[in-house]
Amino acid sequence: MRYLPIFLDAKAHRALVVGGGGAAVPKIRLLCRARAAVTVVAPVVDSEIALAAQAGELEWQARPFAITDVEGCAVVYAATGRGDIDARVARAARTKGVLVNVVDRPDLSNFIMPAIVDRDPVIVGISTGGAAPVLARRIRARIEGLLPDRLGRLARFAEAFRTAARTRVPAAVRRRFWERFFDGPIAAQVLAGDEADASVAMAASMCENITPPAGGVAIVGAGPGSPDLLTWRAARLLQDADVVVYDRLVGSEIIELARRDATRIDVGKAPSQHSRSQNEINALLHYYASQGRRVVRLKGGDPFIFGRGGEELEYLAARDVAVEVVPGITAAVGCAAAAGIPLTHRDAAQAVTFVTGHGVAGEPELDWAGLATARRTLVIYMGIANAASISTRLMAQGCSAGRPVAVIENGSLPGERTVTGTLGGLSDLIRIHGITAPALIIIGDVVHARQTLGAASLAAQSHTATAPMTLADAV
Ligand code: SAH
Repeated sequence: MRYLPIFLDAKAHRALVVGGGGAAVPKIRLLCRARAAVTVVAPVVDSEIALAAQAGELEWQARPFAITDVEGCAVVYAATGRGDIDARVARAARTKGVLVNVVDRPDLSNFIMPAIVDRDPVIVGISTGGAAPVLARRIRARIEGLLPDRLGRLARFAEAFRTAARTRVPAAVRRRFWERFFDGPIAAQVLAGDEADASVAMAASMCENITPPAGGVAIVGAGPGSPDLLTWRAARLLQDADVVVYDRLVGSEIIELARRDATRIDVGKAPSQHSRSQNEINALLHYYASQGRRVVRLKGGDPFIFGRGGEELEYLAARDVAVEVVPGITAAVGCAAAAGIPLTHRDAAQAVTFVTGHGVAGEPELDWAGLATARRTLVIYMGIANAASISTRLMAQGCSAGRPVAVIENGSLPGERTVTGTLGGLSDLIRIHGITAPALIIIGDVVHARQTLGAASLAAQSHTATAPMTLADAV
């Protein structure tokens, strides 16, 4: 993150605006609204600025900029539209260690202005770090549509009851009280403009008995990695969670969806070094839930597919902890979609089997003969380290060395790669391409049906059919 988002209390700070034309006016309006002590330095100014100066809302000094003007200011805006003057203002401010913004020149500025959605005192600031101002405006338009007009009134209403809530509502249930308020009928009344009735209802609601939150654990699948492959329920539970316990495979972008004050615990397990044992994790979940905390146990993919979700569920249920399980897109499904490989296919596979390539003592104990049957897609999780023996065992059961395979690394994530080859060459394929975990192996004729997704969507646009890639194309 290059720019730090902060909200500055501008009241009683001195702000200098150099320039008095169209570029300066919006900055001056904003500064006056934030009750900064504004000085405008410009030989000539727009009539709006002259009138505000006459009304005593700001000070206008009708002269050119002098470098001493920046002294004692908290922020400086250079908005003359003259490159040479703006650059002088920026230099002077930087020399004095004053924050400076040069309109439309992020390169000369040490702070930039966000696009804002204003429901005072609720302000949403949006920045693309100067990369795409038009995008920031489009995001603003969408947020404008989402936030009710009276949201600011709602915030003020809540503020008016804060002191009363602090004395009347016990600390243990106070957050729950506010959540109930914002999600409930009283807030709806305020948003509808009926503040008088809402005030009466609010005063009464403070005397109600609020039961302390019942703790519980949601065992949540986070999908294969990309945050937009989370379910809505997973996202909502994450935002409500007091404690988030997560695995190595869950990316930081997903963890960031949790409330900032939530306790976040990384129990990450690298393939061979267990940083916390399953027993410790179970005990941790139990401990927080028994404290009345809402715990989200976040796991890569789906919690019930090679995720030990079943063990956690068993442990918690045996101790009467309320548990909910939220499915996630498992790696097989996420990776197959990312690679354009259908897991079943009318012509190529009538069954699909998910297996682990990693057993308790290293190699897995699997029914190799059953797995080697034709017209079946085999998806191997955690199979990279044992790839050589997996292919040997399958071939020993009659699988042809030419059976197509695909290896998908970082499916749905930025470093995503798919490589294809044949069962006989599986371990070479992995070695030559330097595949590392997380990666998934797909074995079966469906790999022939792979479509590169870019080509598929281009084909859709031009209405021309693209022939499925042959293995020769793919390798
Ligand atoms: N519960 C998870 C699986 C955990 S086992 C799920 O349902 O997906 C971990 C294995 O999943 C990894 O070794 C790898 O084989 C596979 N995997 C998980 N995420 C992956 C991804 N983004 N790309 C490729 N493979 C992935």
